[in-house]
Amino acid sequence: MLKTAQQLITEAAQKIGLDKFSIDALLATDTEHQFEIELNSGKKLHAYRVQHNNKLGPYKGGIRFHDDVDLDEARALATLMSLKTAAVGLPLGGGKGGVAVNPSELTTEELEEISRKYVQGLYKFIGPDKDVPAPDVNTNATIIDWMVDEYEKITGDTTKASFTGKSIKNGGSLGRDAATGRGGVIALNELLQYDGLSDSPLTFAIQGYGNVGSYFAVIGEQYPNWKLLAVSDSVSTLYGENGLNAKDLAKFKETRGHFSDYKAGGVKQLNGEEIIGLDVDVLVLAALGDAVTEDNMKDVKAKYIVEMANGPVDKTAIDYFTKENVTILPGIIANAGGVIVSYLEWLQNKKNEHWSEDIVNAQLTQYMQEAVKSLVKVSKEPGVVNLPEAAFIIAIRRLTQ
Ligand code: NAD
Repeated sequence: MLKTAQQLITEAAQKIGLDKFSIDALLATDTEHQFEIELNSGKKLHAYRVQHNNKLGPYKGGIRFHDDVDLDEARALATLMSLKTAAVGLPLGGGKGGVAVNPSELTTEELEEISRKYVQGLYKFIGPDKDVPAPDVNTNATIIDWMVDEYEKITGDTTKASFTGKSIKNGGSLGRDAATGRGGVIALNELLQYDGLSDSPLTFAIQGYGNVGSYFAVIGEQYPNWKLLAVSDSVSTLYGENGLNAKDLAKFKETRGHFSDYKAGGVKQLNGEEIIGLDVDVLVLAALGDAVTEDNMKDVKAKYIVEMANGPVDKTAIDYFTKENVTILPGIIANAGGVIVSYLEWLQNKKNEHWSEDIVNAQLTQYMQEAVKSLVKVSKEPGVVNLPEAAFIIAIRRLTQ
């Protein structure tokens, strides 16, 4: 993922004539914090926070609790955050962090201890105007509320603007849960309008049915001409020739776990990987990075790919799809809904206000529509080869002007 992000930045920057010095500066991270968290049990864990670039505003990005967390992953994700906030026009920079741990092996007390000790290790370098972390993989509002509490105890700050993704009662924003999925749907619909396809019948399949994938499906299904044909998790793909019921699947996932146990009339069970090669108009990637690579890119039949995960299509596959006229809606715009509503949460905290969900959704819509408008415009500039390149050019211009 780091390699793909760096190649995309380098190529886009060269296309707009940046010299090597400026490109190296864009690729470099500002600060990398690495420290050890020692639990009361004596267990030691590696913790990270990478601050990539704050030229446009405070660093912004999630905190992940996962076995695979390491410095390279945090660097890649922090870099993508700076490009994402710039691409959609937010006055924020990019950061990312995490703790290398498997949360399913922890008690609630240990989870709270890690959350508080993470803040004890970092409080000098984060804060409402320095670096504003948020939840990411395996972290949630409960964890963020513990972190905010610890930050307040140490620093005396009471604005709640030190973190986003808080619970609603603790200063969180309405609309945050659905924001990334909703933003992806708005972006795709906008792009289809530019392509003259917004009224045409459209079938779609979603890899990954967690927060992002399920909200994408439920909100996408509200368009009368969009039909959800398939969804997958890490084990199986569900395919319904006559369409699937997105809300029913979301409810099932919440209570029962795996799609391999799902049964409904007209719904076929396929292997997890088969989602990639299904005959649909739009393939939505909402699971992991590097989901489509040289190994499976030739299986794809969709004419549109929506990157809802961070970096789900690698550089080789992006180049292949450009030759094959497959349109990729790039992640730094498609999945920016979450950080846009995080920004709105931060603004509400700073102004000591609480906005209705309609106001939040209206602002999200405006940001996404503006972002896609610029994306389409820049993609038509001479020499620009695809939408991912256009998105990186928009971001790099904002970061270097
Ligand atoms: P999540 O943990 O809620 O859901 C991920 C889902 O993917 C799970 O249902 C899991 O079963 C499934 N999955 C895992 N491996 C899979 C595989 N090989 N094939 C198919 N499905 C698989 O996570 P999320 O919050 O929905 O995030 C999904 C992706 O979107 C992540 O890459 C995340 O970094 C990215 N993202 C999330 C947000 C956000 O606001 N949540 C914002 C931007 C980007």
